Amino acid sequence: MKVPISCEQAAETCDKAQYKEASNWQKLLMKLHHIVCRICRVQSKKNGKLTEVINKADLKTLPSEKKEAIKIRLHEEMNR
Ligand SMILES: [Zn+2]
Repeated sequence: MKVPISCEQAAETCDKAQYKEASNWQKLLMKLHHIVCRICRVQSKKNGKLTEVINKADLKTLPSEKKEAIKIRLHEEMNR
């Protein structure tokens, strides 16, 4: 099966989906991509967990750029 979108696009949609900014069509393409691409599937799971942590930490009022910055920092901590 051919991958419908690139890894880059899948990652982008994944980020948008976290903030409910992705369309249903984009999310569908992302899911299709995740079926064939294991790397993105794992990455998306990690991403989802981070977002959960951030949301639980009651940072809901923060603008998405701030949340993104925190997420990047958490990523760096996790990859250490
Ligand atoms: Zn991929």
